[in-house]
Amino acid sequence: MAKTMARQEKIERFDRRQALELLGDLPMGQLMNLAHQERTRRFPNDTVTFVVDTNPNYTNVCVTGCAFCAFCRKNGDTDTYLLSPLEVAEKVETAAAKGATTVLLQGGHNPKVGLRDWQAYIAAIRSVCPQVHIHPFSPAEIAFMAEKEKCSVSDVLEMLWDAGIRTIPGGGAEILTEPVRKIIAPRKATTDQWLDVCEKAHRIGFRTTATMMFGHVETDEDIVEHLLRLRNLQDLTSGFTSFIPWSFKPGRTPLAKKVRHQAHPARYVRIIAVARLVLDNFPHIQSSWFSESISAGQLGLLAGADDFGGVLVEEHVHKEAGHNRQATVDNVVTIIQRAGFIPARRDSLYRIQETLAPPVPAGAAGL
Ligand code: SF4
Repeated sequence: MAKTMARQEKIERFDRRQALELLGDLPMGQLMNLAHQERTRRFPNDTVTFVVDTNPNYTNVCVTGCAFCAFCRKNGDTDTYLLSPLEVAEKVETAAAKGATTVLLQGGHNPKVGLRDWQAYIAAIRSVCPQVHIHPFSPAEIAFMAEKEKCSVSDVLEMLWDAGIRTIPGGGAEILTEPVRKIIAPRKATTDQWLDVCEKAHRIGFRTTATMMFGHVETDEDIVEHLLRLRNLQDLTSGFTSFIPWSFKPGRTPLAKKVRHQAHPARYVRIIAVARLVLDNFPHIQSSWFSESISAGQLGLLAGADDFGGVLVEEHVHKEAGHNRQATVDNVVTIIQRAGFIPARRDSLYRIQETLAPPVPAGAAGL
């Protein structure tokens, strides 16, 4: 591992073996320190960004049935829903009144929803909240839509581009290896399909995020493979804005029969640190107060992350799994400050809109 650290000092790229050593072997303090050094080199001003967003899922009907999902419902279940464009627009209007500047719009893979419905959602939101940035439809949803509409992925992406969409959320990546996907999401877009949608989107001009959901049946090798597949694509397109890991929440999911406990926060912090070091071509790494916990989110900021995700006005997917957290903008600002950083509100392209107060003095009461 001393050799690994020496390579990093020369700012050479970590290879697969070294990435595995970082993830599995390097003592926590050294790993966090290395990642924090790299984060400080890239962002010397200690700013941590966040966005105020809302996540109204337009339908909970889904035919894909991932084993880790507590949100989806089958047609015929008693509590299915499909929002109309007007209902989605009203939700966004309510969130905008509370300060949301971005709407992350996603839904289940519902065969009754077509491209025209997607266009109608976008148009309805625009008509009531033209100032809100629309960040819609994951690569997995786009692959499903292309199959359903019997058109190409490029056709779907071009429709979104023509509708004025410029960023796409990187959901549905889970773990980008087939052995894992066959267990947790056998009917979802494959690794190659997910990456293909991102590549095509980047080449059109979209910017996307990339997610990873860990803490279930994956191995360290799977995690490193996931990171390397993302890094390889980013070398080609430079289209990813950020990497967003989150841990599997067993809750009421079918996968809970096999995996009973959420990954330890230390695992989350290690993954953030390894991502900062291995994803050397990704501008931003996100640590989240929401998906993990306030303290794990703060530790992530000391392990290489420079972004704190969203202050979610509305969210359902984690809530359905029994993971229900809420915070205000003031809470998030304070959490970032207490970790020793300067909070800054950003947009969905990670451009800083407003830098807020400097860190609180040492000794001030914690949250
Ligand atoms: S994670 Fe998405 S695609 Fe998978 S079952 Fe849930 S809603 Fe459907």
